[in-house]
Amino acid sequence: REEEEEAEDTKEEEQLETRLTYNIVFVTAEAAPYSKTGGLGDVCGSLPISLASRGHRVMVVSPRYLNGDSDKNFAKAVDVGRRIKIPCFGGEQEVAFFHEYRAGVDWVFVDHFCYHRAGNPYGDRYGAFGDNQFRYTLLCYAACEAPLVLTLGGYMYGQNCLFLVNDWHASLVPVLLGAKYRPHGVYKDARSILVIHNLAHQGVEAATTYQNLGLPPEWYGALEWVFPPWARTHALDKGEAVNILKGAIVTADRIVTVSQGYSWEITTVEGGHGLNELLSSRKSVLNGITNGIDVDDWDPASDKYIPFHYSIDDLSGKAPCKAALQKELGLAIRPDCPLVGFIGRLDYQKGTDLIRLALPELLQDDIQFIMLGSGDPDTEDWMRSAESTYREKFRGWVGFNVPISHRITAGCDIFLMPSRFEPCGLNQLYAMRYGTVPVVHCTGGLRDTVENFHPFAKEDSGQGTGWTFFPLSKDSMLGEFTFCTTASVWNGWYLLVAADDARIFVGENR
Ligand code: ADP
Repeated sequence: REEEEEAEDTKEEEQLETRLTYNIVFVTAEAAPYSKTGGLGDVCGSLPISLASRGHRVMVVSPRYLNGDSDKNFAKAVDVGRRIKIPCFGGEQEVAFFHEYRAGVDWVFVDHFCYHRAGNPYGDRYGAFGDNQFRYTLLCYAACEAPLVLTLGGYMYGQNCLFLVNDWHASLVPVLLGAKYRPHGVYKDARSILVIHNLAHQGVEAATTYQNLGLPPEWYGALEWVFPPWARTHALDKGEAVNILKGAIVTADRIVTVSQGYSWEITTVEGGHGLNELLSSRKSVLNGITNGIDVDDWDPASDKYIPFHYSIDDLSGKAPCKAALQKELGLAIRPDCPLVGFIGRLDYQKGTDLIRLALPELLQDDIQFIMLGSGDPDTEDWMRSAESTYREKFRGWVGFNVPISHRITAGCDIFLMPSRFEPCGLNQLYAMRYGTVPVVHCTGGLRDTVENFHPFAKEDSGQGTGWTFFPLSKDSMLGEFTFCTTASVWNGWYLLVAADDARIFVGENR
C-alpha cells in the first residue's frame, strides 16, 4: 500500500512538472484588497494567487484608484518609472505603472488622474462617472502594453500571454489585440478569455464615441450595437451605439461565465440582456466555471474580523458570534430569536425591492433582520427609515464595510439572497462555510450552488445545504422562511433549527 502511495505521489509530481504553465494577464476594474465593490473584486483578488501557486506567471492589471480612503491599499505599490502614451480620445494620454509583488503575483496598477477622485471605482452618490468609457479604455490599452514594456522581477512577460479579461471594463483588450497588434505581427500567439461576471453592464455609449477609442474605422462592426425601438429615447434616435462588451464577445478566443447555470441563462431571451443571440452563436466557445472562494479570508476558524472562532468540528463559537453581533447592532441579545442577514449592492438585480415588500410581514414573526448595503439612494433612505419604524427588530446599515460583512456572515442564522438574477453569488458560499443557512431565489449561480433542503431524502433524515425558492415573489420567499425554521444541513453536518425556539444545533454527521 505504501509503495502504491509512493508511486501515486511520484506520478502526481511528474504531472506537475510537465503541466503547461502560462504567462497570464488579468485585466480587471477591481482586485481585492486594493479595490472592491463586489464579487469581481473578490475573484480577481484571489484567483490570480491560486493560479500563481500552480506555477503560472501571473500579472493583474487594474487602476490605481485614490479616493482618500483607498490610498492606503496602494501604499506598497511603487512607481516602476515607466510612462506610456495612449492614442485615444483626441490626444496622447500619458499613464504610469505602479507595481507590487505579493503572494506570487505581479499586481500592476495603471495610474492616471482620472482614477483619483472620491467615490467607488465606477461612480459617486450622483451616479456613474460620465467618463468611464475613457477610464477603462486607458486600462485596456495599458494592459496590452504592460507585458511588452514592464520589466517585473527582472523579466518581461513578452508576447506569449493569455489575457483574462473581466467584464466590459476590460473588453477592449481582445479588440485591440486584433485591430492594433496582430496586423503588425505582435501578440500573434497570445490568446484571450472573456470572463463574464455580470452581463447587465456592457459599456454602452453613443455610436459617435467610437472615434474616441483610437480603433481603425473598419473595426466599427465589432462594437456596433443598435438599441431596440422600445429602448430609444427620442423619435430621431436611431438607437445606434457602441457596446464594449460585445466587442469582446465577438473577438475573444473563449468566453467563460462564473457559473454553469449562468452560461446557459445568458443565451436565453430572459437572461441575455439583448446579447442572447450573439452569445448563442458563440456557444462552441462558451462555458461556465463556478467561482471559488478565498478559504483563508473566509474561514470561521481564523477570520480576523469575527470575535469568536469556530469550525466544523467545534461550532461552539457561532452562538457567541451571534450574541456579539446583536450587541453591536443594539438588538436584544436573544439566542432563541432567528437573526436574518442580507449583504449586497442595493440594486434591482439583488431583489432588495422584494425585501422591502416582504419586511412588514416578515417582521410580524419573532425574528431580527440586519441589512448591509449601499447603492440605490431610494433604498438607502428606506433602510434608514425602516430602522426607526422597526427599532426592536431591524437594522439597515448603509455603507460598504468589509469587517461587518464578515461578522454578519458569522453571526446570523439565516442569509437571505432574493436576487432577480445572479451570475454566481459569493455571499451564499460564504454563508454555507460559516454555518449560516442560505435562503435564495433559485436562479443562476444560486441554483448551482445551494442544494435545496429535501426533508424526505436519505430515508426521511433530510438532505440539502439551504433553501431555494421559486418563483421570485414575496409569498414564495416568505414560504421558505417557515420551512427554514425546521431544518437544514451545513457542509455535510446536519443542522437543526428547532421550529419552536429557532435555535440552531448540530446533529450527527450523515
Ligand atoms: P456582486 O458581485 O453581484 O456584487 P457577489 O455575491 O458575487 O455579488 O459578491 C459580493 C461581494 O461584495 C461579497 O464579498 C460581499 O460580501 C461584498 N459586499 C457587497 N456589499 C457589501 C457591503 N455593503 N459591505 C461589505 N461588503 C459587501
